[in-house]
Amino acid sequence: MDIFKYGGASLQSPDRIKQVANIIQQHKEKKLLVVVSAMGKTTNALEEVVALAMAKKDFNTELGAIKSYHVNQAKALNVLPEVQTELSTHFEKLNRLANQMGEYDFIYDQVVALGELISSVIVAAYLKSVGLPAQWADARQYIKTNNAYREAKVNWRETEKLAQPLQHQKLTVTQGFIGSTPDNFTTTLGRDGSDFTAGIFGFCLNAKSVTIWKDVPGVMSADPKRRANAIVFEELPYKEAAEMTYFGASVIHPKTIKPLANRGIPLYVKSFIEPTLPGTKIYECRVAKLPPLIVYKENQCLISCKVTDYTFVDEPQLAVIFKAISDYNVRINLMQNSAISFSFCVDYRERKIMKLIEALGQQFEVYFNTNLTLITVKNYDSKTSAEFRATPGLILEQSSRSTLQVLVKGNA
Ligand code: ASP
Ligand code: MG
Repeated sequence: MDIFKYGGASLQSPDRIKQVANIIQQHKEKKLLVVVSAMGKTTNALEEVVALAMAKKDFNTELGAIKSYHVNQAKALNVLPEVQTELSTHFEKLNRLANQMGEYDFIYDQVVALGELISSVIVAAYLKSVGLPAQWADARQYIKTNNAYREAKVNWRETEKLAQPLQHQKLTVTQGFIGSTPDNFTTTLGRDGSDFTAGIFGFCLNAKSVTIWKDVPGVMSADPKRRANAIVFEELPYKEAAEMTYFGASVIHPKTIKPLANRGIPLYVKSFIEPTLPGTKIYECRVAKLPPLIVYKENQCLISCKVTDYTFVDEPQLAVIFKAISDYNVRINLMQNSAISFSFCVDYRERKIMKLIEALGQQFEVYFNTNLTLITVKNYDSKTSAEFRATPGLILEQSSRSTLQVLVKGNA
């Protein structure tokens, strides 16, 4: 069994979906489990619907656009009659859920998951229509999680047990990003979580390999739009790839690598546009010295906590700060302390971060800056070090022997 994962960009248009089918055709001797994301930017659009619904605003225009986008995709692929009933059921459900009262994160998961469900219905129908033996599977029946909506944690033992019947299917099409609680409510695994789903199935089915098909030729040393000399890695050790994702490289979801590394399952990152290119193989390997790896993480927020009475930030106070950060489920991307303040940099997810700032404000004087970019240079050399330390708008820098990080204003 091998696992293929296709993200939103590879499903955004009928032509791209046809290309997905071509690639699957070329691998039809394999037993395959195909994980798909929502099509194009559907998840963002559904997030918008949830935001409007929760603010008790009208969301019919937004919902209408999502609906017609999918109907047009199905029409262009000549599978509308096959999927019409299912699409209607999903859209009715979407409408009903968005109108439901409830806790934000719970409603979010029930609504947003429909992007993947609808996408997988269309993809499975199209694969069948071109003669492939595709069987649609509801990932929620296999991936069991806790009820931490929007950031659900996988129950690995249960999932591994439930997933086994999928071993016997020739070609399964299922959804990324979603799972379900013990009470069968839908959960999501965090934004961009479909890669992680591929990792989960890879681990649980002890797959031969997992391939993530992307619109880039593989894992690169930097974003080629920002750095013309970026190179594609032929191979990378799991550890190196995991660290890149930790620092914000968006090519693979950070949680994807660990389950695969645990079972020694190779992870390929390949281009769906040029599938004959070798791409990147991530596995247990040794590589000679790697070039500097540059990762840009935009939309950062730097929060500084100061003690109000001119005393120092001591350990009990740090404990209070860390407890709040942990309670709000926020991840620190960089931190630094001085005598009277403690500063840390986080992804600016506005709702959550404003709540954290408010909580910290009860005990500290809190300052924050948004619209920052965190640039990480792993394996930096003297040239990149000099260059990045001179970045205009630099407000904070930190380095270890292997990694340099600079936090700068704007989009760098
Ligand atoms: N559709 C989800 C998202 O956009 C999951 C994914 O694409 O990986 O976050
Ligand atoms: Mg995606």
